[in-house]
Amino acid sequence: MTHNTDRNDTLFDRAKALIPGGVNSPVRAFRAVGGTPRFIARAHGAYMWDAAGRQYIDYIGSWGPMILGHGHPAVLEAVQKAALDGFSFGAPTEREVDLAEEIIRHVPSMEMIRLVSSGTEAGMSAIRLARGATGRAKIIKFNGCYHGHADSLLVKAGSGLATFGHATSAGVPEVVVQDTLVLEYNDVAQLEEAFALYGRDVACVIMEPIAGNMNFVRASVPFMRRARELCTQHGALLVIDEVMTGFRVALGGAQSLYARQIPGFQPDLTVLGKVIGGGMPLAAFGGPRAIMERLAPLGPVYQAGTLSGNPVATACGLATLREIAKPGFYEALAKRTQDLTNGLAGAAKAAGVDFCADSQGGMFGFFLLPQLPQNYPEVLKTDGARFNQLFHGLLDRGVYIAPALYEAGFVSAAHSAEDIAATVAAAGEVFKAFSK
Ligand SMILES: *Cc1c(COP(=O)(O)O)cnc(C)c1O
Repeated sequence: MTHNTDRNDTLFDRAKALIPGGVNSPVRAFRAVGGTPRFIARAHGAYMWDAAGRQYIDYIGSWGPMILGHGHPAVLEAVQKAALDGFSFGAPTEREVDLAEEIIRHVPSMEMIRLVSSGTEAGMSAIRLARGATGRAKIIKFNGCYHGHADSLLVKAGSGLATFGHATSAGVPEVVVQDTLVLEYNDVAQLEEAFALYGRDVACVIMEPIAGNMNFVRASVPFMRRARELCTQHGALLVIDEVMTGFRVALGGAQSLYARQIPGFQPDLTVLGKVIGGGMPLAAFGGPRAIMERLAPLGPVYQAGTLSGNPVATACGLATLREIAKPGFYEALAKRTQDLTNGLAGAAKAAGVDFCADSQGGMFGFFLLPQLPQNYPEVLKTDGARFNQLFHGLLDRGVYIAPALYEAGFVSAAHSAEDIAATVAAAGEVFKAFSK
């Protein structure tokens, strides 16, 4: 965990003097695990190199977008070509139409889509649209799901269903979160109770279908089915936040997996980000024409963006989506990801360490727990000190996983069987050290 002062320390000191915490997004600061964050100098394929020249196998993939690995030739070429034609015009471009078509082709619940620049913006706009389209104020979200840092979503549960949420961030007035109800994930009875109490005032239910912001917790099929039924019954919209899962767990997103098990299943609104930008700032939200046409300039719900549908970002997203739409892509990615989680499980078992894991497509999660958690309180039962030991043990061995136990992991198409084997071997050494 300790290492000699190197270029990462020097940069971190400089950064801390100028940028709060030295980072532009909190999780990067290594606060949960301790130590100095690695300043990344460059990346290629499945690897990243830090400022001190150390190489890592990358399981963060920019928190999801880098599904092809870093610097895929087709994506690089598309981005370079687009850059030569201009960075931004503030006027419509052909590529925005191409990207809209490409996304909608794979996600049948969306008839129309609006492009924005971040997942936060997409989630916030989807909620405004849901409220505008229903004329209702209240929203339901679930404990442990993250939908970006919009004010009304930075909420934790109140005490019981009679009290709405409390802000989890300073600077968010209670009045802004008083219409946000926070429920436990995968709790059907609580959701039913909430609709019984507030059904006529609920604009939408927003949820991650596989919650990657509590590592990896699937919405159970009965929970998803009941959420859909209750929304339909009460005239509320079901908003599925696929910023992380969209084009990551399957070509049609997690919703395509639920549609296989729940006949006719579709969300009303879908929120996308991460993979659809291929590493550039690009996100989107979409749904049926009748709802989407409520947006400005056609309808009364205002939404806008100077850099929305940016020409370089759309080129990057489009090239990425065209690669991952090729036959066999997700089968190979899922197999590689399963090889990783199976390998890690084997290494943990050999060392007598509690371990469980799950994955879908190129997204995975593991817990130092005997069985998979179903909600956030269960996720938090993980031994944090042990996780930190694992994190630093892996990092020292050239394997870079998320520096927090409540974050999902990502495998890209660039990860080789050798990378997986090296990762499993490294984890095996760390697990064995646990018992000493
Ligand atoms: C990452 C994420 C967001 C926020 O996206 P940003 O681009 O970071 O603003 C929203 N929802 C989910 C499910 C995410 O994983």
